Amino acid sequence: MPEGPSIVILREAVDELGLKGKVIRHVEGNSKIDKDRLIGEKVTDFKSWGKHFLICFKDFTIRIHFMLFGSYLIDEQKKTPPRLSLVFDKHELNFYTSSVQLIEAPADEIYDWSADIMSKTWKPTAAFKKLKENPKMLACDALLNQDIFAGSGNIIKNEVLFRIRMHPLSKLGEIPDAKLKELVKETRNYAFDFLEWKKEFTLKKHWLAHTKKICPRCDIPFHKEYLGRTKRRSYFCENCQRRY
Ligand SMILES: [Zn+2]
Repeated sequence: MPEGPSIVILREAVDELGLKGKVIRHVEGNSKIDKDRLIGEKVTDFKSWGKHFLICFKDFTIRIHFMLFGSYLIDEQKKTPPRLSLVFDKHELNFYTSSVQLIEAPADEIYDWSADIMSKTWKPTAAFKKLKENPKMLACDALLNQDIFAGSGNIIKNEVLFRIRMHPLSKLGEIPDAKLKELVKETRNYAFDFLEWKKEFTLKKHWLAHTKKICPRCDIPFHKEYLGRTKRRSYFCENCQRRY
């Protein structure tokens, strides 16, 4: 599943094509949204919020969520039918296996940009407050919670917990404030490292915990378990990651 930084890469790629302000000439795809409505409409902006890619119009917003297997191609097509294909004068954007929604409101009215870990207006104090409000929540669930850390996903979860030496089953209410602040800070830090490494095609090479078998700090086997509400894969070391 693409995490927030991957959506930022898409947004930047679309920005470079200069598609902001351009008019949609043709629309295809097996999405059930009203495709005719988009023809002749000018895109006012492209935005990202967490794992959502947003195509903004004056009065409405197209939300693309890549779910588990979604993908996109710019100026290229796959053999499989697209969920949504937007054709401009000089370029086309094709989205596959994604959830596509048309929301009857401008993006600024529906999204809290300060909750997006990649956003210029990210508010660490708001994330900290939300963590404090959920004392029974597990650290591994907090890092996948899109209301707290929009854009964080399973890779970010495993790597951040390893970085800050926190066990995924730690209860938020048991974690000292300074450590919670470190969790918030490192989630954003790691997201930007992720972005840089992904652009260099070196993301996997930099994984220290995610999909790894041996803890690089302790040289003993990692535990791999399906933890938390969502039962996503967790890789962690029982020796150097403290359980609060
Ligand atoms: Zn270790």
